[in-house]
Amino acid sequence: MNRRDFLLKSGAAVSLSLLARGALSAQAPATPPARPPTPVTEFKELRRGVGLFTGRGATTGWLVNPDALAVVDTQFPDMAGIILKDLPGRGGRTLDAVINTHHHGDHTGGNAVFRPATKTIVAHANVPDLLRARAEADKRTLDPAGLPDATFADAWRHDFGDETISAKYFGPAHTKGDIVVLFEKANVVHLGDLLFNRRYPVIDRPGGASVRNWVKVLEKITADYPKEAIYLFGHGNAKFAPTCGHTDLSVFRDYLAALLAHVESEIKAGKSKEEIQNLENLAGFPDFHVPPGPGNRLPSNLGVAYEELTSV
Ligand SMILES: [Zn+2]
Repeated sequence: MNRRDFLLKSGAAVSLSLLARGALSAQAPATPPARPPTPVTEFKELRRGVGLFTGRGATTGWLVNPDALAVVDTQFPDMAGIILKDLPGRGGRTLDAVINTHHHGDHTGGNAVFRPATKTIVAHANVPDLLRARAEADKRTLDPAGLPDATFADAWRHDFGDETISAKYFGPAHTKGDIVVLFEKANVVHLGDLLFNRRYPVIDRPGGASVRNWVKVLEKITADYPKEAIYLFGHGNAKFAPTCGHTDLSVFRDYLAALLAHVESEIKAGKSKEEIQNLENLAGFPDFHVPPGPGNRLPSNLGVAYEELTSV
């Protein structure tokens, strides 16, 4: 038996550790138990009662006018509670709609908190099944209160007081259930995760993503939506503003196109998936660059592109 085993078996380790703690506390005050950091939250109006809320999770969009209230994406339960409590101008009114840009947890995690305070939760027709599949994969019980109750296949449009919100589906991209939400009169567009502004994106292949179609979707958005629109997006490089315009959409389109072109040429050169994934950063996109490590999604992006290009 070594010394450590002896100490553990004899209970001496406990008294030693108590002694050590006593010695420490004699020198310095005990540190309080670690708490998760409280995120900085902010409501910011953009135009005509339409604004954004940033907290923990993907950026939320909102509309408040004298006759209607709507929220786009719900982040997480704690953030949903803050939105309901502090949304400027809500005054305890019931929301007319919550809209989910897609099924991911950082966009739908607060749905159940909103459920008793909203008339409806709207999403693309693929979203309920994607939420069920994701919960099953994660071995979680799905709260049915968080499921959208109004879904559509191609397009949805509704009046909210003196504003009109329309939503469109352009096919698989980041998942197979992403929609673009337009506040028509304010001319504000919420892109959900169709835009990762100067960040390597999440590409949810099990959730039906298509990099090739994502490039086309971004081209369609810049062709169909106004240049003067203010664009909101789920996630971006913190060095850049939380809203953007067409140029930023094109930068991201160029990244996805370059990702596909790079992987395609590597496949042609006879490299394996693992060899292709062994790359820290993609040349030509310095704003996206991050250090190697688990936070760097480029290897995962390369792997998804490889799978997409080699699948029949
Ligand atoms: Zn997402």
